[in-house]
Amino acid sequence: MADYDFDLFVIGAGSGGVRAGRLAAQLGKRVAVAEESLPGGTCVVRGCVPKKFLVYGADYGASIREAAQYGWTVGDVSFDWPTLRDAIQKEVMRLSGIYSTILEKNGATLYRERAEFVDDHTVRLTTSGKTVTAETILVAVGGRPWAPNIQGAEHAIVSDDAFTLERLPERALIIGGGYIACEFAGIYAGLGVKTTQVYRGGRLLNGFDSEIRDEVGEVQAHNNIDVKFNISPTEIKKTSGGYIVTFDDGCKIGTDLVFMATGRKPNTETLGLENAGVDIDASGAIIVDEYSQSSVKNIYAVGDVTNRVNLTPVAIREAAAFVETALKGKKDAYDHSNIASAVFTRPPVGTVGLTEGEARREFGDKVTVYTTKFRPMKNTLSGDPQRVFMKLITEGRKERVIGIHIVGDDSGEMIQALGICVKAGLTKKDFDTTCAVHPTIAEEIVTLKPREINKTTVVT
Ligand code: NDP
Repeated sequence: MADYDFDLFVIGAGSGGVRAGRLAAQLGKRVAVAEESLPGGTCVVRGCVPKKFLVYGADYGASIREAAQYGWTVGDVSFDWPTLRDAIQKEVMRLSGIYSTILEKNGATLYRERAEFVDDHTVRLTTSGKTVTAETILVAVGGRPWAPNIQGAEHAIVSDDAFTLERLPERALIIGGGYIACEFAGIYAGLGVKTTQVYRGGRLLNGFDSEIRDEVGEVQAHNNIDVKFNISPTEIKKTSGGYIVTFDDGCKIGTDLVFMATGRKPNTETLGLENAGVDIDASGAIIVDEYSQSSVKNIYAVGDVTNRVNLTPVAIREAAAFVETALKGKKDAYDHSNIASAVFTRPPVGTVGLTEGEARREFGDKVTVYTTKFRPMKNTLSGDPQRVFMKLITEGRKERVIGIHIVGDDSGEMIQALGICVKAGLTKKDFDTTCAVHPTIAEEIVTLKPREINKTTVVT
């Protein structure tokens, strides 16, 4: 048997890579992890974590305004971007430090440089030039923002840049209708930026339940976001006072910041995968089987680089299953069904399971849909007209719950618990026989009534 430097070499110290590296080191394996940026990856350094802090920051503005109805006298209020930005960066650095420490404390070697494949058992560390061999290699390099190459594209920022802006613009133009575009439009508008969101389709959040997509359109409008549909940018021109963006219908929009939130791509370019014989698909994603094993038997990949379900907790579960399979000899395939997730618009979206469209395609007329829309108690006093929308989808005579979709305060928190119910295959009767927690928003989920017949045509 060949004598390798390490039992496991992990490329990428993000959510998936760190989990796999730590678990492997705890098994007594000789582990090395390479990271060219800060340990913690997209989620901790330039994604979920700093984004959620920005959402909290934006929410304070609304809370301060609404506090008057609750008896508070609030004086002059202003927002200072550098204070929030720097506080978030400080926390990001603290968390990133914890990620390094977790690896090192468990005995893994952390190389703070880029690694590229030389062959199927060898990587080269590109700063030091050192080559290292390993019996098993895990690729966990994540993804990176992608933007269309229109004229003047260099003037636009992407999500990586959004957390460290020198100053907050007066006007922001966000291109895209997905997770990042919707979330950042909500953040900027909440921080007082005059925000326009432009989407090439007719409804935001492609792939979500169609009623949720309509509700999110209303949420954005409620937050004073000017949402424009069915146009795409063709050119960005810098002017003395900002930028002028031209669209394919001929319209022009002036702004101080152009933010391309037009998707992400697996980070496989120049990784040398061809030297190891690892197959990738047309999007650049590493092709893996249900055990995260690539076309080369000692090379595995987890997380966004495989473009399965691009969420941090999924990468972590895939990493744990990889350790079971590749290092403990117990085949473990992570089940990607019924993954709950949240979109942190303001208020957020919580979703798990099938959309109504998917449910009807799979189960036809065996589907029953329950919905409600109501003004949450807090808003009746504050005067905020924002309502909560809830939707529950069942299938069959036993009414197994196969989808839950919510737009409203705390839906990101609710959907974690509701995700357990859907994953466990609970029925509408289980919901009906569960006593409500009063007074909460969540209690409405156990008292839902069927949606009126005339609305059952809403399917996409
Ligand atoms: P998404 O795929 O969610 O959205 C990309 C958006 O860009 C879509 O609206 C897409 O339109 C649009 N678009 C694509 N190409 C073009 C183009 N050439 N011109 C104009 N518009 C274009 O990607 P994001 O970058 O927002 O997020 C990436 C992933 O990261 C998400 O899918 C999610 O998995 C994860 N994520 C999760 C979060 C969470 O859990 N809260 C938060 C942020 C990201 P169309 O819909 O028509 O294709």
